[in-house]
Amino acid sequence: MRNKYKRNLTIAGIILAIGLVIALVYILILYSMGAISIGGKSKPPNTISSTTSEELPPQTPEKSDTYNGDDEKFSSSDNNSDDVNNSSPTPTEHKQSKGIIVLDPGHGKSSSAMSESEKTRDGWLYNSQKGGWGEWRHWKSGTTWQDCLGSGCSGRAPQNGGCWYPIGAGDRDKEPQINLNNTLAARRYLEQMGYEVRMTREDNNTNPSMTERLKYCYPDNDTTRPPDADAFICIHSNAGGGRGSYYIALSGTYDQAGIPTDYITAGNTLGADINKRIVSETNLSAAGSNGRYDGYPTLVLFCKSPITIAYMEIGFFDNASDLAILNNSADAIGKAVAEGINDYMSSR
Ligand SMILES: [Zn+2]
Repeated sequence: MRNKYKRNLTIAGIILAIGLVIALVYILILYSMGAISIGGKSKPPNTISSTTSEELPPQTPEKSDTYNGDDEKFSSSDNNSDDVNNSSPTPTEHKQSKGIIVLDPGHGKSSSAMSESEKTRDGWLYNSQKGGWGEWRHWKSGTTWQDCLGSGCSGRAPQNGGCWYPIGAGDRDKEPQINLNNTLAARRYLEQMGYEVRMTREDNNTNPSMTERLKYCYPDNDTTRPPDADAFICIHSNAGGGRGSYYIALSGTYDQAGIPTDYITAGNTLGADINKRIVSETNLSAAGSNGRYDGYPTLVLFCKSPITIAYMEIGFFDNASDLAILNNSADAIGKAVAEGINDYMSSR
């Protein structure tokens, strides 16, 4: 009797143990399917595998840092694709910056419409000896961010100009919006290519001085740190009789501190690269000398920029044919500008 009782007890124990194992396995299966939670944390549902998901790479692999943008072709017709196709990530979300580009849609709000506080906010200086608001054309030779105040500088200036640049000299009526249209399009294409873009103005209610615009060459506009932008692009449109597009060439001596040793040739190469794209991809022709104009090497921005700079005059807005192109082809112009910048950056 005693042996039989002992044997029954053993069998019962084995059955209980098997039952416990089955229950445990069942609970583990439910957990792995996400049907139950343990410790308040439900296992995330997984459509691929219930056991190996932690080892799988992310389902949206990031683009390689070596991506060079050459495999992306843009067309005027697909500039709205971001609005209708939100399912695919934009390239900028998955790439490191290919470079930092400052885009300057020149001019802005007319000085006559600006209050004194707006002029101050936008970096203009009041100088009664010089007859009002303006800014200095140069830094003290060999420095940056020390205005020349009329002496100790290169003194280079255009005919009828001097060290002082009066605010009213930058007033334009139609040009601010034309420049802004072209620049906003260029920004969109540059960002699609993977560049970080900084704009010196994003509407027509501001009119930063040239000096103020150059702050975008620096990280967080902090001029006490070294500039971190790769290039500064002035995007203008022309007037005064003529047709077509050109860049204003740098030449002579620039003596601000820190500029690259190839400041002149780099800037002129950049300008030429952009203008080539504009002429080949839009209906604007090459103006000046095959797209180059040598008349204004003493522009404030040339005299003060700490980084490579190009100054574009895109079409003549006082010419009816050019104006029609400017009004209808801002996207194509912006695309050409972006591709010209990329041509330059890719060749560096
Ligand atoms: Zn000066």
